[in-house]
Amino acid sequence: MSSKQKFCTRLIFCIFLSFLGLWSGQTTGAADNDVIGMRIGDVDFEGSRALRLVIETNEPLDAKLLLLHDPWRLVIDSVGLSWNVPGLESSGQLSSGPATAYRFGHPKVGTGRIVVEMNAPASPERVFVLPPREVGGHRLVIDLIDKGLTRFKLAQKSLLANGLAVIQSTQAQAVNLAARPSALPQPVSQHAKVASPVPRPPVTDRKWIVAIDAGHGGKDPGAVGLAGTKEKEITLAAAQQLASDLRKTGKVSSRLIRSSDQFYKLRQRIEIARDIGADVFISLHADSAPRKAARGISVFTLSDTASDKEAAYIAQQENKADLVGGPDLAVEDPAAANALLSMFQRETMNESSRLAAAILNEIRDMPGGDKRGHRFAGFAVLKSPDIPSVLVEMGFLSNKEDEKNLNSERYRHKLTQKLSKAIVSYLTSTSP
Ligand SMILES: [Zn+2]
Repeated sequence: MSSKQKFCTRLIFCIFLSFLGLWSGQTTGAADNDVIGMRIGDVDFEGSRALRLVIETNEPLDAKLLLLHDPWRLVIDSVGLSWNVPGLESSGQLSSGPATAYRFGHPKVGTGRIVVEMNAPASPERVFVLPPREVGGHRLVIDLIDKGLTRFKLAQKSLLANGLAVIQSTQAQAVNLAARPSALPQPVSQHAKVASPVPRPPVTDRKWIVAIDAGHGGKDPGAVGLAGTKEKEITLAAAQQLASDLRKTGKVSSRLIRSSDQFYKLRQRIEIARDIGADVFISLHADSAPRKAARGISVFTLSDTASDKEAAYIAQQENKADLVGGPDLAVEDPAAANALLSMFQRETMNESSRLAAAILNEIRDMPGGDKRGHRFAGFAVLKSPDIPSVLVEMGFLSNKEDEKNLNSERYRHKLTQKLSKAIVSYLTSTSP
């Protein structure tokens, strides 16, 4: 290295160090902040009862959100945060929705921590901030809903990676949200003793909810086999069998997205799964490929880029289902508009891969079950931001043997039993 190069390296290093100094200076500059108000109550959120927590602070809150279990609790950590709420002790009991207690403390020197204990695995569904009004400070609003253990675990992992980013992106969007009347907090009272909504039975008595989506239906027949088999009929028969197999385990409440020959848009299928609070979503298909020799079972999960050409082709065929129903006028995707939910997507994709692996592990000895494996593509029906979702192509109707198998009730039952076993094994492994 020449002396000139050495000098340049040193210079860059010094600039880097001074940048670090500036950066850390900025962080400590945000240090002093007081909690000046806290309100808890329950609000209606898209038809569900949500626990709303409002934290009011002097300065915008630079915090990290965390979810912990045993007991279930929401944690908000912030450097330099102190408790300064007139007339409200720094700890106490609560009886609002799932919230049972709160406390403020210092887990380490210089960090303030607000903890809300809960008797159910409620996770943040929406987070937003509101600027100060004439009186009062900056408000951070968190709406929590109990959507089951799978969702809690997803949120827990996502927050571990993005807890700070959630608040920051929320602050960046604050003005937009504040302008929306639906986002304004309803009046909530301190220590509210609101009649507790009980959306779900106690955690120990709960069954997992599995949404089973029979591909296609109604005016959309899906693929048509060499012998005239319609994909929509095969998928419905398999979905009903899978629902029954899952129910027999005693651990799962299975729900069919469609239980007859009906047409639903792909987004509606996702919405139904979210409405019923599904822990997982499985979409069943039996498509065709231009290559008649193509056969076997594939398990797909969502990805922006397809794993191979055939996967891209299949996803393209599946996504066409929406075109059958005419132009889609609902341009805005409500799920995508929620910054918090988009942050769950990465973790949801990881969980979907784990579910796919559990399925592949079970179907290995089915014809072609070990050949095609786990593949990725941009399937519209797999885009739930917070429900692990897989699509199983049970075989190809464009292949003679596969078509024959798919028409056999015995064969389908063998497959659905394996799917059921894999789903239960995945769900059992997800307990936080
Ligand atoms: Zn299909």
